[in-house]
Amino acid sequence: MTDKVKLVNDSRSFNTQTGENILSAGLRQGIVIPHNCRNGFCGSCMGLLHGGQVEYEGDEKPRALTEDKEKAGYVLCCQAHTKGDIELEVETIDAVADIEIKTLPCRVNRLEKMADDVMLVELKLPPHEKFIFHAGQYLDFLLRDGRRRSFSMANPPSSEGVIELHIREVPGGFFTGQVFNEMKEKDMLRIQGPFGTFILRDDSSRPAVMIAGGTGFAPLKSMLEGVRAQGCDRPIHLYWGARAAKDLYFDKQLKQWIEELDCLTYTQVLSEPHASDNWTGATGWVHEKVMEDFPDLQGVDVYASGPPPMVNAIQESFPLVGLQQGHLYFDSFEYANDGD
Ligand SMILES: Cc1cc2nc3c(=O)[nH]c(=O)nc-3n(C[C@H](O)[C@H](O)[C@H](O)COP(=O)(O)OP(=O)(O)OC[C@H]3O[C@@H](n4cnc5c(N)ncnc54)[C@H](O)[C@@H]3O)c2cc1C
Repeated sequence: MTDKVKLVNDSRSFNTQTGENILSAGLRQGIVIPHNCRNGFCGSCMGLLHGGQVEYEGDEKPRALTEDKEKAGYVLCCQAHTKGDIELEVETIDAVADIEIKTLPCRVNRLEKMADDVMLVELKLPPHEKFIFHAGQYLDFLLRDGRRRSFSMANPPSSEGVIELHIREVPGGFFTGQVFNEMKEKDMLRIQGPFGTFILRDDSSRPAVMIAGGTGFAPLKSMLEGVRAQGCDRPIHLYWGARAAKDLYFDKQLKQWIEELDCLTYTQVLSEPHASDNWTGATGWVHEKVMEDFPDLQGVDVYASGPPPMVNAIQESFPLVGLQQGHLYFDSFEYANDGD
């Protein structure tokens, strides 16, 4: 059985099939609603229902759908299933619509510890296979038991046949534990992607403030690699927050990049510097340092990626210092919802 989703802010429509959520149905038909975690946690895929009804699986409502939002008619497209035809107001992102989502086998080509808890995992694709993506997007590892785990590409889309990931070990983490303790070069894995709408908006000439927390640097590195290749069209201010100096695992290279790129500035912010770091730079939370440097964020675009508490703090505090609606792009590194 199929239902029709009519977009009210756009003349297009698409169909949902039984058991398929609105986001997946749109993606299948080339209509990309903004999305990030696809777990109901981050709220990126929120839309406003103008007509019809939706339902959610299970007894619990998705976390990002507060009671107030639901009462106001909002729906979370990554979790909502149509109950008949609906009319929906939601943003769509055409820039990623023409990219095919592929499921591919791949081989672990290189494993290299970049910090105590960060592993560079380089994947090699089968010969002649291409994995086309936009800088900032992510892939899912498809694990044998049906679980999925998301990681952002850190290499530029132009890389031929390889994918670079920066994987942080989560204490007690099912998959990242395997990456650190069991994974070997030549191991075979299955990936699916690309997903996500955290991409550089090329049509903007506003200065960009990029904020990374830990391995949130990965998708920003992919974007910055593109800027290095194509040149700058606007100022970019990169802020990287980590606990101690050793956690800034790409610091040396970034210092070189700022020598090469006139448009790029780079500020490191440490939350728990070690005494041995002899740290004289910024300390505290990275988003607070940004607000100190930019007391008025009107006129800039903000790209933030990393731990959910950092992204939440940015979402709450930046509009209070002038960040205009629609100018915050984020990738919140939510954990997977295994549904158990
Ligand atoms: C779009 C996207 C892109 C991402 N990109 C990257 C990347 O480039 N690099 C990277 O390192 N990570 C990235 N992540 C995060 C990464 O997907 C998770 O760290 C990973 O899924 C953890 O898998 P795991 O099996 O090791 O942990 P799990 O076994 O899933 O979880 C480990 C433990 O953490 C607990 N936990 C669950 N949720 C939370 C929470 N919200 N806060 C704290 N603890 C929790 C669990 O209960 C469990 O005990 C990304 C996430 C998303 C959604």
